[in-house]
Amino acid sequence: LNRRLAAFGTTIFAEMSALAVRTGSINLGQGFPDTDGPEEIREAAVRALREGKGNQYPPGPGVPELRAAVAAHQERFYGLTWSPETEVLVTTGATEAIAASLLALLEPGDEVIAFEPYYDSYAACIALAGAQRVPLTLRAPAFRPDLDELRALITPRTRLLLLNTPHNPTGAVLTPEELSGIAALAVEHDLLVVTDEVYEHLVFTGAHHPIAALPGMRGRTVSISSSGKTFSYTGWKIGWVTGDAPLVAAVRAAKQYLTFVSGGPFQYAIAEALTLPDAFFTDFREGMRRKRDLLAKGLRAAGFQVYEPEGTYFITTDISPFGDEDAGAFCRALPERCGVAAVPNSVFYDDPEAGRSQVRFTFCKKDEVLEEAVERLARLG
Ligand code: PMP
Ligand code: GLN
Repeated sequence: LNRRLAAFGTTIFAEMSALAVRTGSINLGQGFPDTDGPEEIREAAVRALREGKGNQYPPGPGVPELRAAVAAHQERFYGLTWSPETEVLVTTGATEAIAASLLALLEPGDEVIAFEPYYDSYAACIALAGAQRVPLTLRAPAFRPDLDELRALITPRTRLLLLNTPHNPTGAVLTPEELSGIAALAVEHDLLVVTDEVYEHLVFTGAHHPIAALPGMRGRTVSISSSGKTFSYTGWKIGWVTGDAPLVAAVRAAKQYLTFVSGGPFQYAIAEALTLPDAFFTDFREGMRRKRDLLAKGLRAAGFQVYEPEGTYFITTDISPFGDEDAGAFCRALPERCGVAAVPNSVFYDDPEAGRSQVRFTFCKKDEVLEEAVERLARLG
């Protein structure tokens, strides 16, 4: 294993999911729903397979139906207009979109400012690109970015800001004011912005605002989203990038040599999913809001300090009430102690001490599963 990757080991999601399986625990670690998305969308995938749509290499940028649907979705929800031909790129999940964007846009030695705690693939992909990660720490309890701190982190080597809103793992959602402040800094220092918005439809407080829509941002922003979270088919791995044509062309140049193209039949199904009526998106969000409230209440009752998330399907908690154990040790022992698996936020910080007492739970599970998990956690005492 080369030096760039050696530091990253096995991702925490694989480790904790394996532990959950081994111990027969309820897995509230890795974020994936235990209920599939709409049946009509699954049927659309079956139909595509049967009709031979996408069974051979689809077009490099994605099938035209999906590119058009991504553009129409961005216009419907945010008033953003993108050319399906040149400003939309289909990727193998948001994960490939993140990798391709960073590999395409960074030079070795460039600095990338990213919020921490950060989604683990950010750090690995920045390293693969030979660039340097510079964390802007979001601090409990509200996990807001401090714009003065952000300004102070910018150097002549800063090339790119890597944003994530709604934010995994803290659930923070950037406000219009915060986004304007970040955009102003990007314009002032001529920075690129890569923004991971995979939880765009899971905002419970306020609303999701894409930074690409702000003045001066269109030409410097690569926006990333994914069907996995919104349509509850995380295994299909259909994601996408939108942005100004030259930026999307750059990301596409990298994508050619990563996957060449993304799986065909699912693209047709997700094209249909993106045209579901507004009620689908509202119901999905409101259903998740109830689950958030159910888990938050249970975690509080069990003794955790809960940081109420504004978005995503994760709750970050503080485990200090249980003693001085660090989050990693706590999560490695939790399945044996009570039959529930979670994820330690400490691995999402450059300095694990910063997240020493933070543990993340997902609530994208059936109510009865969450209820059972909460009962088990209550025995922690
Ligand atoms: N970004 C964030 C913030 C995530 O939580 C995830 C997890 N799914 C991804 C990207 C990856 O998305 P995908 O499964 O579409 O590759
Ligand atoms: N995004 C999900 C999470 O944060 C799953 C990530 C993964 O398995 N790579 O848990």
